[in-house]
Amino acid sequence: MKAAVLFGPRDLRITDFPAPPLAEDGVKVAVAYCGLCGTDFHKFAGKAGSRPVTYPVPLGHEVSGVVVEVGPRVKGFKTGDRVTVDPNWSCGCCDYCRDGKRHLCSSSRGVVKGMAEFICPPQENVYHLPDSLSLRDAALTEPLSCCLHGIDLLDVQAGETVGIVGCGAIGGLMLQLCRCKGAGKIIIFETNEDKREGAMALGASHFINPRTQNVADALAAAGIERIDRVMECGGLPVTAELALSVAGRGATVVLFGVSDKDAIVPLKWYDAFTKELVIKTSYINPATTSRAIALLTGGYIDTDTAISTVIEPEDLLEEMNTRRNSSRGKVLVKIKDFE
Ligand SMILES: [Zn+2]
Ligand SMILES: [Zn+2]
Repeated sequence: MKAAVLFGPRDLRITDFPAPPLAEDGVKVAVAYCGLCGTDFHKFAGKAGSRPVTYPVPLGHEVSGVVVEVGPRVKGFKTGDRVTVDPNWSCGCCDYCRDGKRHLCSSSRGVVKGMAEFICPPQENVYHLPDSLSLRDAALTEPLSCCLHGIDLLDVQAGETVGIVGCGAIGGLMLQLCRCKGAGKIIIFETNEDKREGAMALGASHFINPRTQNVADALAAAGIERIDRVMECGGLPVTAELALSVAGRGATVVLFGVSDKDAIVPLKWYDAFTKELVIKTSYINPATTSRAIALLTGGYIDTDTAISTVIEPEDLLEEMNTRRNSSRGKVLVKIKDFE
């Protein structure tokens, strides 16, 4: 099959690659769309994604598609079904799995290498799509399910003031989810001015550019005395530092962005102590896939704003090198045209 395969750092080729074997409990899915994730850029640069990388490997894990074959033990899926897939498999029998923390499974692994014509995940990772949800929009399921876990951990209460640091594809989805949760005010901290208009259109109350504005002055000018919840979406020491510094007394901060492996969070310990901060991290998407599908189907997410563009596989390498479209939102690669 054709696939976009990473052979090493910055060595991405569209090439023939063996299709994954179909297990007895496997579902063979012809991929329609595969979203480009921040972790794909990490892997392309030679860093780890959610897990370490073993070359050669097709890029991508945010997929929608159509079932073309099922293993003999599969119940509930048949050829022609429209589906999306949770890329994270867990064993179900280790200590963590048995404690209901399947995302922390001792032998978890990725079962979707999605920039390819076919994937063969086990049936337990495959989810039906409602007819009314397009395959294009359904490719947002995985990133949205990860964001949902982060939002669950942030625990926004209706009417509270939320800060979001970084407003790329993920920050934009977080902004939409904060709206769903009934956040009273949403303050975006973002250095890319191109994102100001889109963020305000999605319902941000304020857009502060830490590169050109003094953050404390800008917050005071906006009449924001306290931020109750802060979502860090940059994955950089500087964005983590900003998230911790703007958090108010008693605030919860979720460090959501995927950092470099050896990155250190610059924590002002005494500040965190006197503010009694609750600091959390968020890892992948435990049991949030069905809710992500429901939000997309219910029209709660403005997918036209969330998706910056749809590109062909041939244009993938240029996008990886330039991030031209990714800087505006989620880029989808159209693998096969079903619609
Ligand atoms: Zn992702
Ligand atoms: Zn397990």
